[in-house]
Amino acid sequence: MSLAYVGLGSNLDNPIAQVRQALGELDRLPLSDVASISSLYATPPLGPQDQPNFINAVAALETSLSPLALLDQLQALEQRHRRQRRLHWGPRTLDLDLLLFDRQALDSPRLKLPHWHMHARDFVLVPLYELAPDLMLHQRPLGDWLAELDSAPIRRLTDTDVTPAATI
Ligand code: ATP
Ligand code: CA
Ligand code: CA
Repeated sequence: MSLAYVGLGSNLDNPIAQVRQALGELDRLPLSDVASISSLYATPPLGPQDQPNFINAVAALETSLSPLALLDQLQALEQRHRRQRRLHWGPRTLDLDLLLFDRQALDSPRLKLPHWHMHARDFVLVPLYELAPDLMLHQRPLGDWLAELDSAPIRRLTDTDVTPAATI
């Protein structure tokens, strides 16, 4: 059994619902169980700014899948949310990034572990820190990476934000 961290993001078609639904779907993946989930965060977009804010979260997943088999499953889930890759870093209904898989390091075109830019992304580090404050990333504590970022624009959603009918 391995422990994987999955980053979720959405900024189209009711992003809160997309992320919440995806969390349920992650829990139902074969040989996998969601062990914990972070709060949801509203975050400014990366890249093109003329797109809605994102909803981001991180889930810890206990899995007996291999890293590549898990990536296959994550990409199939993205497809089920009708994700279309049109624009690099453009708007999407669901993005599922495999952030960490135990302590494995991989560098193939299809799968890089740890996820290539997570150490510099507040929308990844803030929810991840919520789940695993003692985690090491590239031989440094997560908190050290976080301290280097300006995470001011990130807003943790409250209960009133995440009622099913809520929009952002
Ligand atoms: P970014 O990778 O900067 O977060 P993105 O999520 O918009 O941008 P995608 O279009 O979702 O990028 O993915 C591009 C490719 O990245 C995918 O085809 C996938 O095979 C590859 N990839 C490499 N490493 C990973 C990883 N750890 N998790 C998810 N995809 C990965
Ligand atoms: Ca991504
Ligand atoms: Ca991705």
